[in-house]
Formats: sequence, structure tokens, C-alpha cells
Amino acid sequence: MSKRDYYEVLGVSRDASPEEIKKAYRKLARKYHPDVCKEPDAAEKFKEVKEAYDVLSDPEKRARYDRFGHAGVHADVGGASGAGAGDPGAGAGGFDFGGFGDIGDLFDLFFGGGRRQHPHAPRQGANVEVPLVVDFREAAFGTEVDLEVPREEPCSTCHGTGARPGTQPEVCRACGGTGMEEVVQATILGRMVSRRTCSVCGGRGRIIIERCRACGGAGRVRVRRAVRVKVPPGVDTGTRLRIPGAGEAGYNGGPPGDLYVVIRVKPDDFFRREGDDLYCDVPITFVQAALGDEIEVPTLDGRVKLRIPPGTQTGTLFRLRGKGIPRLRGGGRGDQHVRVVVVTPTHLTERQKELLREFAAISGEETHRGESLFEKMKRAFRGG
Ligand SMILES: [Zn+2]
Ligand SMILES: [Zn+2]
Repeated sequence: MSKRDYYEVLGVSRDASPEEIKKAYRKLARKYHPDVCKEPDAAEKFKEVKEAYDVLSDPEKRARYDRFGHAGVHADVGGASGAGAGDPGAGAGGFDFGGFGDIGDLFDLFFGGGRRQHPHAPRQGANVEVPLVVDFREAAFGTEVDLEVPREEPCSTCHGTGARPGTQPEVCRACGGTGMEEVVQATILGRMVSRRTCSVCGGRGRIIIERCRACGGAGRVRVRRAVRVKVPPGVDTGTRLRIPGAGEAGYNGGPPGDLYVVIRVKPDDFFRREGDDLYCDVPITFVQAALGDEIEVPTLDGRVKLRIPPGTQTGTLFRLRGKGIPRLRGGGRGDQHVRVVVVTPTHLTERQKELLREFAAISGEETHRGESLFEKMKRAFRGG
């Protein structure tokens, strides 16, 4: 049976550094691991990669391989680990992962960096997300709110141990306090040692003999804490405010998680918001529209004067610069767009009707000169 060159197997050059070899090996081992790879010859490839690595990662074996080729290392490869080169019968008892360095390494390799930590290692607490509804104007100008944030904290009765005060948790005898147990399985590759969460202590590494009554032995309790949240000017629906460290408490002295406040802005009766710009509709009479006037318009900062030129059409937009929403990022403010709506009078006195009829009688073509809508309709009557 012809064997492939070990360097070729790992896809590295002959002068590759130990680091490069290790990197190439990890990549290929992950790719061809039979639990992951569905290719029919995955097991064979995995074995080939493992064998190449066994030799090239050992300076002594590598030197011999470089000088004598496969013949120089053949005998050794089958030695300690038993996964012999050209020894397809490496069966039960012949194969373990001793070559991986340590078992944590192995976990890293096959479970995509989901490194199992020691149960007593410090870990960061979880992030907490809470919704917050703010008024239209509060969103525009900012506000401060006291929020009740539900989160997990260490139990104050047992100080996080989960054991009844006066008692102590015991180290789990099944796992020796590591929280992990080793499982030996026979596979096509031989004996495989894998690790999983200790089934006796559930990964905590300790056994609680008498549970704390306050937390039921969990060591943590859910509480509601008041958190003062500063809402900056310019937030909009969907804005997420991050308050570092206001999330759930860390584990074993780890840092707390963060609090995310997700904003929803209540709509306003008068103003409509699009980004940092505001839109509003302002009614004017047809007399104001025809003769022009100066009107007052509400803004977020109070009323301002707006000049309506004579002959203003309904729907015309006027812009009030800088009267919009303050920009959340960067300075300045958006604009307020005022749309005038000409309102037709509904309750006319006889005298008013008389004057309007008179107005109609003396109004000719000239009155509406230049109004494209009338012209378009006239063309339509003429048939184009
Ligand atoms: Zn407790
Ligand atoms: Zn255990």
C-alpha cells in the first residue's frame, strides 16, 4: 500500500514550522473528523492526517522521516499510541487521543471553540434586555427613567453557594470537582475518550447536601433592581441603549453582563417623525391661501410664525429649518416640514354665500391662470 507523503497530507512545506504544522493539522482534523465529515472515506483521511501529525509534530520522528521516509518512522508510529502506520487493524485499545496535548484542547478542536471551562472559573453574567416606552417629546429631548430590571444575582442568604447557611457544599466525588466526566467509547477509530458534563453534579463540581431555602440550592435568585436610565435626545423606536454592567451578575467573580434598553416611541397626535425630520399638517382658510397671511405653527420648541404667500395651494410644504429632532449621533437637528391644508368652509351665512356667488360671477379664466390642474382638466374635456 503506497503511503502519501506526510507533508503533502497536511498540505505544508517541508520547512514548515511546528506552529504551521499544528495549525494545518487542526484544520484538517476538524474537517475530517468522522463525527462531522459525512464523506465516506472521512475516517481514513482522519487517520492519515493524525498519523502525519504524530510524526511531524515530534522533532525526533520528523528528523528521521526527513532522512529515511516512511521506513524511518514506521515502527515508531505504531508504538505508544498503537495507531500504526499501515496498520488498518488498529482496533479497540489501540487508539486514543493522547497526541492532542490535553483534553481541553480536544474539546476545542471538535466543538468549535466551545471551550468547557472549569466550573469555578469566572464567567461574565448574561446581558438583559428590557423595553422602554417614551413619549414623543421625551424621545426628542431626552429624559431620565427609573427602570425595574429583572435579573439574576447571587443569593444573599447562602452567598451564592446554594448550601444552607452553616453547611458547605461538598466536592463531587464522581468528577473530583471538575464538573466533567470522561466517557470511553469504542468507535471505528478505536477507543475514543470524550468528555461531557458530570451527570452526578450537573457540571457544578460540587454537591449540595442541604439546600439553601432562599434560592432552592441554585445559589442565585431573580430580583428586580431599579436602574436609572439616561435616555439621550434623539432616540427613536428601535434604538438600543447599552448600560454596561447593569445586566446579570457574573459567576465566580466574573464581570456582570450589560443591560440593553430597547426604545419604543409613542406616536404624537400632531407631529409625524421620519428619521430626524418632523412632518405636520396645518389648516388654513381659502382666504388665507388666496390672499396670503402670517400664521402660527406649533413646533417642539413652541409656536413660530410662518408666512403664507398669496396664492398658496393646498398641500404645499414649508420647511422650518432646525425645528426637527436633535440628532442622536452628531450635532444639529432635523427640520420640520409644514404641509398647509386649505379647509373649505362648511357653515356659511346668507351674506357670505352672496359674496361668494358675486366672487364667482366676476371670476373668469384669469383668476386661475397658471394653475396646471385646471389646464390639464380643460385639455381632458377637449379630448387631449
Ligand atoms: Zn441561597
Ligand atoms: Zn461531578
